Amino acid sequence: MRRIYLDYAATTPVHPEVVRTMLPYLTERYGNPSSIHAFGQEAKTAVEEARGQVADLIGAKPEEIVFTSGGTEADNFALKGVAYALRKRGDHIITSSVEHHAVFEACKFLEKEGFKVTYLPVDRYGMVDPEDVHRVITDKTILVSVMHANNEVGTIQPIAEISKIAHERGAYFHTDAVQTAGHIPVDVEELGADLLSMSAHKLYGPKGVGALYIRKGTRIASFVHGGEQERGRRAGTENVSGIVGFGKAAEIAKRECETETRRLSELRDRLIEGLLERIDHINLNGHPTSRLPNNVHVSIEFVEGESMLLNLDLEGIAASTGSACSSGSLEPSHVLLAMGLSHELAHGSLRFTMGRWTTEEDIDRVLEVLPEVVAKLRAMSPLYRKGG
Ligand code: PLP
Repeated sequence: MRRIYLDYAATTPVHPEVVRTMLPYLTERYGNPSSIHAFGQEAKTAVEEARGQVADLIGAKPEEIVFTSGGTEADNFALKGVAYALRKRGDHIITSSVEHHAVFEACKFLEKEGFKVTYLPVDRYGMVDPEDVHRVITDKTILVSVMHANNEVGTIQPIAEISKIAHERGAYFHTDAVQTAGHIPVDVEELGADLLSMSAHKLYGPKGVGALYIRKGTRIASFVHGGEQERGRRAGTENVSGIVGFGKAAEIAKRECETETRRLSELRDRLIEGLLERIDHINLNGHPTSRLPNNVHVSIEFVEGESMLLNLDLEGIAASTGSACSSGSLEPSHVLLAMGLSHELAHGSLRFTMGRWTTEEDIDRVLEVLPEVVAKLRAMSPLYRKGG
């Protein structure tokens, strides 16, 4: 059976060119970048080259990039780092109610530490209204953190408008760009970001490596203490092969972003139109236009997302019912609830995320299989009446 992977937002396969670039750093070039001998210097040079490649992807300077163990650590670093560095100036943080758990839970932790966090509402498309930021920001606000695009429903937020409001009131602005860096243009100047999180495994790089962009001059406390790596900002021997892979993946993403965006948007629209045409009682979630080029998220009435997922899996199709991190939990997604979906609709949701190796045939296969799966499950549902 041909297997079809449509869960690129959970993770991506490592690009073959990235694997080739990484391999020598697992074998013959194994030096520690902190060592002064030739082995060490070779590794250090490779890390610095990767720093330049990652910086280049987002319009930053190399010295503004700090490598981390992934997106989760980058988010934690941004939130806790700013909170602790600016504690004397203020205790208020603003974020949205649709953030990834990495931001959400870091905020919950900071609340226990005495900080006050405002969770902004979103509209039915999952969009934050910049006016709401205006409404809640105070002189005590030290940080506004709103994700660039949502990992579940793909909605792209009006980041430049939000960061402008944060800056007018003297607060820093952080954005979680884990789902956008390498997929749509990300430029720290245009976005007005002081801090920006990235993760390599979402852009055809390896897992367990990411980065936090920290604008020069931003006050931030370190939260991993030890050696002097990363200019003292993040201790620990660098994940050299991972960082080298991240750099290469960033370089490829920059090169291919435009054509991939165009190709994926067409596949996305083909899937959306096909599903809306073939299945009744189906709703598209997320913003209709301000949306990631590779994201299709739907709610289908009278069926459980989990059941659809398992049936699709039996046909070789891998999708998701929400974010990979929250699957396994019976709680409906906080993102869908924040958008005003009922528990029933939230439970009947499916996410398809496409990527570099997705083809038109893959989409057509989903369009053939999913309506059959839905019909089969609905036949067992006492609640469902066609057309009614
Ligand atoms: N932020 C967003 C928006 C994500 O989608 C993810 C991963 O699902 C993360 C953060 C966490 O990144 P990582 O898996 O590298 O820790």
